Amino acid sequence: MSSPEIIPYSRQSISDDDIAAVVAVLRSPYLTQGPSIEAFENAFAAAHGGGEAVAVANATCALHLACLALEIGPGDRVWTSPNSFVASANCIRYCGAEVDFVDIDTITRNMSLAALADKLEAAARDGCLPKAIIPVDFAGLPCELAEMRGLADSYGFAIIEDASHAVGAQIDNRPVGARFADIAVYSFHPVKIVTTGEGGLCLTNDGVLAARMRLLRSHGVTRDSAWLKRPADGPWYYEQLVLGFNYRITDLQCALGHSQLARLDDLYERREHLAARYDQNLGGLPIRLPARMPGYRSAHHLYVIEVADESGRDRKAVFDHLIARGIRPNVHYIPIHTQPDYLRLGFVRGMFLASERYYARAITIPLFPDLTIGEQDRVIVALHECLHG
Ligand SMILES: *Cc1c(COP(=O)(O)O)cnc(C)c1O
Repeated sequence: MSSPEIIPYSRQSISDDDIAAVVAVLRSPYLTQGPSIEAFENAFAAAHGGGEAVAVANATCALHLACLALEIGPGDRVWTSPNSFVASANCIRYCGAEVDFVDIDTITRNMSLAALADKLEAAARDGCLPKAIIPVDFAGLPCELAEMRGLADSYGFAIIEDASHAVGAQIDNRPVGARFADIAVYSFHPVKIVTTGEGGLCLTNDGVLAARMRLLRSHGVTRDSAWLKRPADGPWYYEQLVLGFNYRITDLQCALGHSQLARLDDLYERREHLAARYDQNLGGLPIRLPARMPGYRSAHHLYVIEVADESGRDRKAVFDHLIARGIRPNVHYIPIHTQPDYLRLGFVRGMFLASERYYARAITIPLFPDLTIGEQDRVIVALHECLHG
């Protein structure tokens, strides 16, 4: 008897149409800087309630460009969530600005609105308000963005929404998109909702920010006559206006992304169906399940359960049991401020306790569109084996 296949926590879903779309670009004149990039950008914006989209090599680049477009630099402060991938905080440091964190809400696992309001009040008193915040839509559940927008407008800071997990997420039955954030950032890494292999995107309703990000993604160089400082020497002429980067994405990647985007509703339905099955079948166990918030539609990027024990021992035991059953869970996230490179900056354990306690209990179990019911049942049975009684 052959042993059953290992079940990963996440995996891309690639259709024959996706493959055909990439092959068509391979047969076309442009592998990069051709028409597929703008076509993907326009489709992405249309699926997210409009705005201007700027696609780049990955979401880490997108976060960096978003910070630069908002003119974040040395002397500025930017706050993010400790419960995220390190990229959410590193982009602040790329710009020479100072990182700080706002602890999470124990139910949503997103940046706590109450903790944010308290920290802003104290910062206003002490004259050290942030120039921007980077809330993260953890696991695909949108942050309380309307309320955060209210705080941003009254205190005068910008919002860069790290929506890497939240392609297709909704608030009040409408796509979140860039409705609340100055810039929303998405990732197309293969484990995320739709993939381009590697890829990222900035979505904004501000044309000035979009133009800055487009310039910075390709060396700060332009051929646009409206922008040139000097008369063109000839048709070959270009100018570098600012110090930019090569953060470009390719047409091959955008063709894949565009094809995946056409499947967004199906991919979401599949994730929602599987998440609802976990909700039903794990409800009796002594664990906390992802919260469902009225009016908020999660993209269901991750399905994270929390065991009761805060020592980390039970989490390790459940993790090991799943591995023994041929399942590869994961943990999202080790609080960023506890990373050695952040402790070096002066952060200490205990500073953002909700995120640290959450981390000690959290396990990400498999959830992806091609997970079969049989495979999901294997995960459910394995969890019952180690958590019952
Ligand atoms: C994946 C991820 C990123 C980084 O995305 P890349 O496209 O891999 O650079 C940033 N923030 C969050 C929350 C992520 O999950």
